[in-house]
Amino acid sequence: SYEPLSSDFYSYGSLLTAREQEALAALRAWLERDVQPIVNDHWERAEFPMEVVKPLADLGVLSFAWDETAPFENSAVFRGFVALELARVDPSVGTFVGVQNGLATGSIAVAGSEEQRREWIPKLASGEVVGAFGLTEPLSGSDSARGLQTTARREGDAWVLNGAKRWIGNATFSDITIIWAKDEADGQVKGFIVPTSTPGYAATKIEGKISLRIVQNADITLTDVRVPESLRLQNANSFRDTAAVLRQTRAEVAWAAVGTAIGAYEAAVRYATERVQFGKPIGAHQLVQDLLVKCIGNITASLGMVVRVSEMQDRGELRDEHSSLAKTYATERMRETVGWAREVCGGNGIVLDYDVARFFADAEALYSYEGTREMNTLIVGRAITGHAAFA
Ligand code: FAD
Repeated sequence: SYEPLSSDFYSYGSLLTAREQEALAALRAWLERDVQPIVNDHWERAEFPMEVVKPLADLGVLSFAWDETAPFENSAVFRGFVALELARVDPSVGTFVGVQNGLATGSIAVAGSEEQRREWIPKLASGEVVGAFGLTEPLSGSDSARGLQTTARREGDAWVLNGAKRWIGNATFSDITIIWAKDEADGQVKGFIVPTSTPGYAATKIEGKISLRIVQNADITLTDVRVPESLRLQNANSFRDTAAVLRQTRAEVAWAAVGTAIGAYEAAVRYATERVQFGKPIGAHQLVQDLLVKCIGNITASLGMVVRVSEMQDRGELRDEHSSLAKTYATERMRETVGWAREVCGGNGIVLDYDVARFFADAEALYSYEGTREMNTLIVGRAITGHAAFA
């Protein structure tokens, strides 16, 4: 049965329905039993454990958000807690889900036709199809709203895509990748469901990462990749529609940041009760308590913020600046928290065995993906002042 985490200091988890709590309890039990023991090893080897995909699907994690597949009625607050519980055990497994469920399925849900939704969402929700989301390019990251260089040219009943993508999560093994490209005719950004077996499509693993090593990111090249019009996302007509996908996923990254901070904090609390110095557990020293209290303060403040953001999403009130503020705030607090948690663990804080090191390193990617701190700050700044300060 479900218990709010002790790191959920004000028990926000008690806001959930009994059915939601039951699903979270099952997810947490599986994560702690089957995922926790294997992640440090996979992190070191920079390999994704493909065996987690089916259990994730069976637990409903890939289906909760979609009308076509949701096993029971559920709230955005619940789905936020799902992201939190995943990241608390492993931010990489959480990122796999964020890409599969939030970005890939989310693109089809937000910008696909009814027919496209019916065809693809059940396959993505069951894990039969693995998806990726290709927006970022080698020469275009933060400025992807205007700077995309990948092109789409209409030829009869098909489209021909040319260009390159960088950093694309899950793309070393994805079956489909959503490719965002500029229509040569009208200059607008459009989205395409590209089967990765299409001739001219190639993905290469990005090696040497020091953050989220379990997540597989790829460089993609697209050379005269032909896709039928039926695979163009029928309701993606400009970058606004891409942004509508990101608005939802950014809020979930904020939740994942809280989960990452919690993972590090819990490792630090464990260590503080076990490690003895000067004749007593280090957690009995005032300055160590100070670090732990600063961590739980950050976690609690961020959790209050993301709960409210998700409530606004449920009420249809969520605007870009709301999720951007949550993403910026929660990832900044996460970055402080994982640093303090690592500090509590002393030298052992830099080896994988004590867990905190993985959260410390993984936090860096969460901090920069789905809009850097600067980009999300500028989105909020524009809302406050009425002045866009991007360019
Ligand atoms: P740049 O845009 O080059 O920015 C570099 C620095 O300059 C940043 O600090 C930035 O904030 C700053 N900067 C840029 N412009 C301004 C400005 N106007 N004012 C102030 N500061 C500015 N992308 C996908 O499409 N799909 C994925 O699945 C995906 N997964 C990812 C997974 C990981 C692990 C990582 C690291 C990235 C992933 N990305 C993905 C890409 C990610 O979204 C980009 O890295 C991010 O948007 C930043 O772009 P960039 O790295 O090109 O940095």
